[in-house]
Amino acid sequence: ARMALARSQKLEAVGKLTGGVAHDFNNILHIISANVQLMLKPGTSDDKREKRLRNILDAVERGAKLSSQLLAFARRQPLHPSLVDIGHLLERMDSLLQRAAGEAVQVDLAREGDLWPALVDPNQLENVLLNLVINARDAMGGEGKVRIALDNLAVDSAAAALDPEITPGDYVRIAVSDSGEGMPPEVMERAFEPFFTTKPEGKGTGLGLSMAHGFVRQSGGHIRIASVVGAGTTISIYLPRAAVPADAAAAPVPATY
Ligand code: ADP
Repeated sequence: ARMALARSQKLEAVGKLTGGVAHDFNNILHIISANVQLMLKPGTSDDKREKRLRNILDAVERGAKLSSQLLAFARRQPLHPSLVDIGHLLERMDSLLQRAAGEAVQVDLAREGDLWPALVDPNQLENVLLNLVINARDAMGGEGKVRIALDNLAVDSAAAALDPEITPGDYVRIAVSDSGEGMPPEVMERAFEPFFTTKPEGKGTGLGLSMAHGFVRQSGGHIRIASVVGAGTTISIYLPRAAVPADAAAAPVPATY
């Protein structure tokens, strides 16, 4: 049932994506066609022609942007998982994240003890974390603190029963918190949808959280949003603990990131 549900959710997302994009392209073509028809009318003044040409140019630019976003989305790479020490990965990303956050935003990393290893694609995990930090920065208007907390979390069946979206098991949890504007329910509901964005034209693509969701689910994990409008948002990623063979100590050292 879980597989069927995941599949139907995927199909639903694809349906929404293609439906939304087809609709946007239709609007663009309609604008171009209407403006060309008006220009073809005899006796159109140069002023009006210029205005219509500008409308056409705007529409073409919108179309080009839409198609480049679609390409970026389609080009998502296959995963190349390896055994990753998440704490180590984040320490190495520290200056990158700090630079992405900007001078007025402080990125704090808090790790509780030794973390379990996780089997994930380190490059894609880096992309996801970078996106989360950028979202946090934007939500705080480019000023404040982003906290990234790492811990091990054993979810037993009782805890999983309280949170039906999470299956029992051992997870490494990465929680990215900001004290930004938060998400109202209608944003939270749609946040994982491809191309859903509340950011101004040209700023957001609406793909960050949708890619994060895809990556985490493909890695066998979960992603959750907790948000309070006016107070802040925490995005938590749960990555399954990797099963390391019992004789790992004797075996050749695995490719740890
Ligand atoms: P983008 O950042 O390009 O808009 P995302 O998929 O990353 O695309 O995010 C979708 C939307 O979710 C954002 O436009 C914003 O409304 C909301 N959002 C994401 N992260 C946060 C956050 N940390 N705080 C508040 N809102 C957020």
